[in-house]
Amino acid sequence: MGFWGDGLSDLVFPPRCHGCRELLSAGGKPFCFSCIQKIPGINLIRCPGCGTNKPDQSIPTQDTECGRCTNCQKNPLPWEFHFSLGSYEGQLRNWILGQKGRGGEWFAEILGRFWATCLPPSFPKLGKMYFVIPVPRHWTKRLWFGHNPAEGLARGLCAIKGGNLDRFSLFRTRFTARQSDLNPMQRKSNVKGAFAWRGGPQKHASALLVDDVYTTGATMAECTKTLKAAGFSHIAIAALALGKTLTTHPVKRG
Ligand SMILES: [Zn+2]
Ligand SMILES: [Zn+2]
Repeated sequence: MGFWGDGLSDLVFPPRCHGCRELLSAGGKPFCFSCIQKIPGINLIRCPGCGTNKPDQSIPTQDTECGRCTNCQKNPLPWEFHFSLGSYEGQLRNWILGQKGRGGEWFAEILGRFWATCLPPSFPKLGKMYFVIPVPRHWTKRLWFGHNPAEGLARGLCAIKGGNLDRFSLFRTRFTARQSDLNPMQRKSNVKGAFAWRGGPQKHASALLVDDVYTTGATMAECTKTLKAAGFSHIAIAALALGKTLTTHPVKRG
């Protein structure tokens, strides 16, 4: 069994890199080595709290508390872990834009499957009791784009890593302006109270929140708050790309 299908389909349709269309060996990753190396920031060690890169650190660690940046040690963010594949620029930005529109759902899932093969050892074991929750889009946006890219990514992650994909329990209660048009303070108030949980009360449950791009973290923080209010005790967040503008600590704590 290959990465994406069986051996027969590989013979009929020889696998090609989804980045550059180069022929690939069967059963491998969906991108060629050269495209993977071109993902900006893929080899950086990142703070497991805020995701900013830590060039001073060269050895990844499985220790949950180690490796956090000074800001995160002083004022921990509301989630326990943060996973990003790379930075929102170049190759990765193009791929993320490619999975946004109509017809991009299959590509989002391929990206999710690929991402699953690049996760560090500290990534949680996703058992049946581990909810994997895509950050919801408002239904009008889903209608406009035809799908929610975060769902495709989450489905791809679950296909490789397991976990209990839940696309319905966390939902948007109202329409919100596009976060990328707003400054950090406006982003926070834009999403305040914009999510709700209809999956019943949870006890000692864990969740992985999945989205395509993380910039200030305001949306992730609001979703985390909603899940913790529903009783979730452990939240990890996974954003495929970290916004390029993210240079300082994004979320105002307190
Ligand atoms: Zn390629
Ligand atoms: Zn940090």
